Amino acid sequence: MLILVCNVGSTSLKYKMFRMPEETVLAEARTERVGRKDAIFSYTNAKTGWSVKCENQDIPDYASGIRLFLDVLLNSEGKVLDDLAQLDAVGFKTVLAKGYYGVHDLTDEVMDAMKEYVNVAPAHNPPYLQAIGVFRNLLPGKRMVGCFETAFHQTIPLSRKLYALPYEWYEKYGIQRFGYHGASHSYIADQISQEAGSTYKLISCHLGGSGSICAIENGCSVDTSFGFSLQTGIPHANRSGDMDAYIIPYLLQQGMPMEEILFGMDKKGGLLGISGVSNDLREIQQAADEGNQRALLAVDAYCNAILKYIGAFYAELGGLDYLVFTGGIGENSSVVRANICSALAHLGIAFDAEKNKQGKGRFSISKEDSRVKVYVIPANEELGIARSVFRKMQ
Ligand code: ADP
Repeated sequence: MLILVCNVGSTSLKYKMFRMPEETVLAEARTERVGRKDAIFSYTNAKTGWSVKCENQDIPDYASGIRLFLDVLLNSEGKVLDDLAQLDAVGFKTVLAKGYYGVHDLTDEVMDAMKEYVNVAPAHNPPYLQAIGVFRNLLPGKRMVGCFETAFHQTIPLSRKLYALPYEWYEKYGIQRFGYHGASHSYIADQISQEAGSTYKLISCHLGGSGSICAIENGCSVDTSFGFSLQTGIPHANRSGDMDAYIIPYLLQQGMPMEEILFGMDKKGGLLGISGVSNDLREIQQAADEGNQRALLAVDAYCNAILKYIGAFYAELGGLDYLVFTGGIGENSSVVRANICSALAHLGIAFDAEKNKQGKGRFSISKEDSRVKVYVIPANEELGIARSVFRKMQ
């Protein structure tokens, strides 16, 4: 069975083509800077190694980005298909739809339910709606499956999902903690299950442009740092993460328009907001190394927010067997990992600073005798999606 997995970012499109159930990757591609004239497109045929990278592409919208990808997939030297009819399904790492939490065929009803939450996931739902619409037009009749990021968190008990607000708001408006990054955290849980079997306590830290911490017990999510919207939890690249809700009415009273408040929280907050340097941790770390105090403050605030969630989840889990770092920052920033792990000796983490600096790919950063095993595991959300779509098609 051939499954194409599509991961849509606010300005990017990432694809992986799988043969299932073998889980063989046939091709990978990505388009960055959708909406600009200097977009970058890259494609690799995973079997032959044939690859292409085109810079300065004029890709004004998702439709042209997807057409370019399909053209290379079908017509280039590195093509893996002769005809789109060979494809069995397209799977999407969809984020949030009102009333739909698992793996669903992307019918008009499900698309309408995604539209209902455009205001809750403004950076994610609109690009997905566009991209899915384009695929539906280009591949009429082909199975389109959405794997909603909230699915993995359905096992969180209601007492942890509820906000302490009037209960009717939960009943009438569905106000609750949904949790996101389900594809990433469930992939990490699968990886740990292979080593630990079915009984373990794990904290998974997905640290990327968006970040979240997830408490996992025996393969199931039991708590997570993300709440109702993707505006919550630890600071993100541009988004604030947790903040006191009463800051909003206060700023309104001060005369700041709602649009400006939302723009500040969504686009000018997070690592960018504190550092004033960049939303990219590489640049912030470099500025911090050069003595920039705001950059140092941002790294400290970021690591402390993660530390707080690990402490809270340790208490909820009643102990810990595994701590895992994944995502662009989790996989690549030895500084962030060192800041966090070296502060956790009292939880049974014997941190190995040498392994932390030198490892690549999947590696351990704890000492042999560490009570808690600490790993870096590269994210592979696409494989999680391919597995879910495959199961749905059985
Ligand atoms: P997204 O959530 O958008 O998919 P990624 O998971 O790719 O993002 O993570 C992007 C983040 O990873 C950026 O903040 C980037 O700075 C960070 N990152 C990537 N490589 C490094 C590195 N070598 N050192 C520190 N941070 C890095």
